[in-house]
Amino acid sequence: TSSKIQKPSWLRVKLPIGESYKHVRGLVDTHKLHTICESGNCPNMGECWGEGTATFMILGNVCTRSCGFCAVATGRPEPVDWDEPQRVAEAIHLMKVKHAVLTSVDRDELKDGGSIIWYNTIKAVKNLNPDTTLETLIPDFKGNADQVQRIIEAAPEVVSHNMETVERLTRQVRVQAKYHRSLEVLNLLKKGGMRTKTGMMLGLGETKEEVVQSMRDLVNVGCDVLTLGQYLQPTKKHLTVQRFVHPDEFAELREIGYELGFDYVESGPLVRSSYHSEKHVIKGWGR
Ligand code: SF4
Ligand code: SF4
Repeated sequence: TSSKIQKPSWLRVKLPIGESYKHVRGLVDTHKLHTICESGNCPNMGECWGEGTATFMILGNVCTRSCGFCAVATGRPEPVDWDEPQRVAEAIHLMKVKHAVLTSVDRDELKDGGSIIWYNTIKAVKNLNPDTTLETLIPDFKGNADQVQRIIEAAPEVVSHNMETVERLTRQVRVQAKYHRSLEVLNLLKKGGMRTKTGMMLGLGETKEEVVQSMRDLVNVGCDVLTLGQYLQPTKKHLTVQRFVHPDEFAELREIGYELGFDYVESGPLVRSSYHSEKHVIKGWGR
């Protein structure tokens, strides 16, 4: 198991607790919001919160799915909170950030899959923060094109949907998801004119060739931005780490990604989907 593998030095990070960090902490609490930074035990909290930014998780903090890597609680979610969009918009306003990232749990029990709250939140954030760019990391909406269309209509600057892993491991890693359905979601978003992005975790047992094949599949649906990071086991109940991928291999995969045609590849042990997200808005920044 991963507990027997020692964490390499490149994965040890400090947690600086400064004024900006406390400011973000206060906003999250007073606005009764959730963040994937906390729910996902992200190793970059010191850096991101220290710079005054966080990734808000909307639609509650209980998910209807049970992905094997994810620390978010599974169960029956609370009823939809229709004031949440406005509180998210206000928190982003008070954070005074140029760029914000939103994500959500999956709400498979809702008829609209949560897409109306998603639409309302994007709109509320844009109304109150006309100069703030937005990345939205969305669920697959079970591949429902009308629900995906709501996101396109709300028009965030970047729409991401994470593949998380290679085709062979998808059933094991994202129990209720499907590899080709996720590719199709990215395809629909691209056809709708969105700048699209996806993220994958390495160290779950995939081979390099499988990763490269996923990269090809993604380029085929026009995906613009790719993030690759090391999978870390959030608790002993979650999938074990099969391998710590060396920073040199991440660097090699970044080059392969550019050769295949991605516009931006963020690849490194501590990379998370929302890491350096502000750079992913701008075409050509990565090269
Ligand atoms: Fe939060 Fe993303 Fe930064 Fe992690 S990388 S702390 S999830 S904003
Ligand atoms: Fe976590 Fe999976 Fe739910 Fe997303 S869909 S919050 S990754 S359990």
